[in-house]
Amino acid sequence: MGKFGSISQRMTLSYILIILAVLALLNTYPLIVSENMVFRSKQTTMQSTVSVMVSALSGLDVLTEKNVAQALTVAEDTAVSRVLVTDADGLVLYDDRESGGAVGSYALYTEIVKALQGSDAFYVDYSDGAFRSRAASPVVYRGQIIGAVYVYEYDTEQASLLSGLQQNLRRISLVTGAAVLLLSLVLSRLMTARFSRLMTAIRVVREGDYNHRTAIGGKDEIAELAAEFDSLTDRLQVTENARRRFVADASHELKTPLASIRLLSDSILQTEEIDRETVRDFVGDIRSEADRLQRITEELLRLTRLDGQPPLQCCDVPAGAVAERVVRMLRMLAEEQGVTLETDIDKNCVVRATEDDLYHILYNLVENAIKYNRRGGFVRLTLRREGGGTAIAVEDNGIGIPEEDLPKIFDRFYRVDKARSRAAGGTGLGLSIVRDTARRYGGAVAAARREGGGSVFTVIFPAPEEGAP
Ligand code: ADP
Repeated sequence: MGKFGSISQRMTLSYILIILAVLALLNTYPLIVSENMVFRSKQTTMQSTVSVMVSALSGLDVLTEKNVAQALTVAEDTAVSRVLVTDADGLVLYDDRESGGAVGSYALYTEIVKALQGSDAFYVDYSDGAFRSRAASPVVYRGQIIGAVYVYEYDTEQASLLSGLQQNLRRISLVTGAAVLLLSLVLSRLMTARFSRLMTAIRVVREGDYNHRTAIGGKDEIAELAAEFDSLTDRLQVTENARRRFVADASHELKTPLASIRLLSDSILQTEEIDRETVRDFVGDIRSEADRLQRITEELLRLTRLDGQPPLQCCDVPAGAVAERVVRMLRMLAEEQGVTLETDIDKNCVVRATEDDLYHILYNLVENAIKYNRRGGFVRLTLRREGGGTAIAVEDNGIGIPEEDLPKIFDRFYRVDKARSRAAGGTGLGLSIVRDTARRYGGAVAAARREGGGSVFTVIFPAPEEGAP
């Protein structure tokens, strides 16, 4: 679980980082914007207050304590905290503070100095729960700066609104942060649990228990991965079952002739006075059991070879010629069994395969049709071109195959009538070799009951690809 734990930890960590970034933004941006708005409105009101006073003083040619006090009675009702008026040197001529005023002293505040140099000045700051703003403008008479007006405001009202907003944002952030943290922890736990179930399943299956399934529900990627893994396990199970069945069947098939050989040799060894003729008979039987063993092992080897890649030396084989060779080889057997062998072969049929494999397919099918026939019966081998490919049909009017056995006859070691197959020297592997060989070259094999008795086996090979070697 270590590695997956770290994936979910990483995810939780990134959730937390993202939410922290969002919360940091939430706690600064709105505050900065509202602070700026307050600053701007302060600037407007302060500067208009100053200009009202400046215009009240505008008729005066020289500023004195008296005439300034007189002129400013009009503009006394301002909302600001303090008003100062200085002469051109910065000497305070008017201070609206009742006691402890600055009249008679020099007030060389930055704003006043700037105003005495001819420009309007404004400054505001927000700290300790209050906005402090200052504004100053020059008083001009005929182009001459004769003094300056300075106002100062200390505002806690707007500041408290702003700090209220700040507190609300903090509370919202705390709640959201906690909720997101909780949610991400729960989600990552869930994910870790699902991953660890998948991991357990992988380990169990790796140890060879193909019955185990992940049983992870849902529709997300983990569920998809689990479903893919389950279907992989399904396939492994099918393959494993087939392998086990094959090994069991093969050992069983090998055991029977071996047991006969043992029995026959024991009989020879244990019978004291055995005549030569009986020995010959027994040894003859041993020989035929050994033949059988050889046939089975050869066919098993052939089957294992079919599991690999198609052979490199495959080429366009003239199927007609191969079919004729098969018929020549099996004519004797047919005569022995009293079966007539008929052919209907299109000489232009071409199959992309090796000659040996094509020969093997045709030989097996025709041999079966003769073996599972009856005296006076017939076998017909037909080769036709079909859609660029080749269609092969082997038809007989022999003993036929019961409907329920048809789907199974291509299985390894499957025989409808074991005794008959054995008597005919069959191994039960012929048809599965035919099917695997045909599939190797893109072909398909099918078996059916023939109308009027007997069976029909068909093999369809695709057209050899254009331009292929
Ligand atoms: P075998 O070595 O026993 O012939 P095959 O794989 O060639 O094995 O065939 C499997 C079984 O299918 C045979 O045992 C037989 O029962 C049945 N079979 C195959 N071909 C025919 C046929 N032409 N007519 C009737 N039964 C057949």
